Amino acid sequence: MNERETLKINRQGHLEIGGADCVDLAKEFGTPLYVFDERYIRKMMQTYRNAFKNYEGGSCVLYASKAFSCMGIYAIADEEGIGADIVSGGELYTALKAGFPAEKITLHGNNKLRSELELALKSRVGTVVVDSAVEADTLDGIAKTEGIKQSVLLRINPGVEAHTHAYVQTATPDSKFGFPVANGSAKKMAEYILTKKNLVLKGVHCHIGSQIFEKQSFAVAAQKCIAFLAELKNSLGFEAEALNLGGGFGIYYAEGDPVLTPKDYTEFLSTLISSVTEGCKENGLRLPFLNVEPGRSIVGEAGITLYTVGAIKDIAGIKKYLAVDGGMFDNPRYCLYHSKYSAILANRANETPTEYVSIAGKCCESGDLIGDHFNLPKAEIGDIVAVLSTGAYNYSMASNYNRNLIPPVILVKDGKAEYLVKPQTYEDLTRNDIVPSYLKKA
Ligand SMILES: *Cc1c(COP(=O)(O)O)cnc(C)c1O
Repeated sequence: MNERETLKINRQGHLEIGGADCVDLAKEFGTPLYVFDERYIRKMMQTYRNAFKNYEGGSCVLYASKAFSCMGIYAIADEEGIGADIVSGGELYTALKAGFPAEKITLHGNNKLRSELELALKSRVGTVVVDSAVEADTLDGIAKTEGIKQSVLLRINPGVEAHTHAYVQTATPDSKFGFPVANGSAKKMAEYILTKKNLVLKGVHCHIGSQIFEKQSFAVAAQKCIAFLAELKNSLGFEAEALNLGGGFGIYYAEGDPVLTPKDYTEFLSTLISSVTEGCKENGLRLPFLNVEPGRSIVGEAGITLYTVGAIKDIAGIKKYLAVDGGMFDNPRYCLYHSKYSAILANRANETPTEYVSIAGKCCESGDLIGDHFNLPKAEIGDIVAVLSTGAYNYSMASNYNRNLIPPVILVKDGKAEYLVKPQTYEDLTRNDIVPSYLKKA
C-alpha cells in the first residue's frame, strides 16, 4: 500500500481513507462502493498547477476526465483552477451541467461526431484537437455557422515509444491517433488547417501513452514536438503559440510499481518544462502556452473500491478464490489489460498476510477477476476487501453487465462522506427498455 495521511491503517486496525473508517463506510453505504479521497485529488491538481509556477510561456493543466467523469469531479477541478480534457459529447454535457467553464475545455477524439462538434462550438469550448481532415472540414463549417473563429490544435504522433503496456500505448507508428511527424503527414495537415478560414491553428498536441514512469519518454516527446514546431516555422512561416503534451504519468498499483509522491510528479513536469524551454531556445522559438493532461495520476490513487467477501472456494493445491460482490462490471481492467492491483482486508488491515488468493467477481464469466495474486490474511465470509488505486478508469469503464448495478461513488474528506454518484436501482436498468407491442401479452 502506498500509505499517506489520508490512506492508512487506523487504531482499530481498519483501513481509513480521507479520515473515514472503511468498515463504517461499508456499513453506511453498502458494498460494492467506490470511495474517493478529496484531499488527494486536490493535492494532485495543485501539484500539477504549481509545477508551472516558474514557466514564463503560460500554462493550463487539463484534467483528463475520461479517467473519472461525473459532475462533482468537474466542480473540484474548477475550484482548483484547472481545465478539463473531454473526449465525448457525454463528458462535455456532464462538465457543462456542473457549471464548468467552457473556455477551459479541450475536446479530443479521433472520430468526433458532428453532433459532438456542434455541441462543443455552440457551448464555445476553448480548444478542439483536430485528428482528421474531414473533422477540419466539418469544424470549419460549424464555426462559420456559429460566426466564430475556433481555436484548434493538431494532434500529431511524434513517434515516441513509451514503456508501458502495449494496449494503452498510443504513439507507435501504427496508432489510430494523430498524424505521424515522420512521414510528413503532420505537416501536410497543419498546412491544410491553415487554409481554413474559421479555424485558428494554435499549435500541436501529443499524448504518448499511459502509466508511464520514464521521465525520458516525456522529455523526448517534448523535444520532438518542439522540433516539429520549428519545422512548421521554417517551412510554412507558422509560429505556434501552444503545445499540449498530454498525460500518461504513472501511478502505484502494486508491488513492482514505483511509489511516487507529489514531489516526484513535480519532477516529471520539471523535466518536461526544461525540454520545452531548451528546445525553444535552440530553435529560436517563443515559449508556447503549455498544457498537460493528467488523468490517472490525479484520481487513480485517490480512489479505492470496497467489496464484501461472499464466497470462498479453495481448489486444493491449485487456487483459492475469494468471490466478492463486484467484479468486471465495476472494474474491467483486469479483463482488458491484466492490470495489477493491491488489496487489503479493510476490517483486519493490520493482520499479517498469510496466503495468496485470486479475487473473483460475481459475473457469469470465468475471466471475471479483479486479479490473480493478492497476498492477504486468511479471509472469511463477510470480510471487507479494499482494492486500492481504483480511482481511474474503473467507474468510467463500469457497465451493467449481467444487469448488475454500477456501484455508487462517495467522496470523503475529514471523515465525512458525500455521494458523488448515488446508487443505481433496478428501475434504472429498465428505464429505456421497450417491449415492442407485438410481443406484449394480451
Ligand atoms: C487518456 C488521455 C489522457 C490521460 O492519460 P492518463 O494516463 O490518464 O494521464 C490525456 N490526454 C489524452 C489525449 C488521452 O487520450
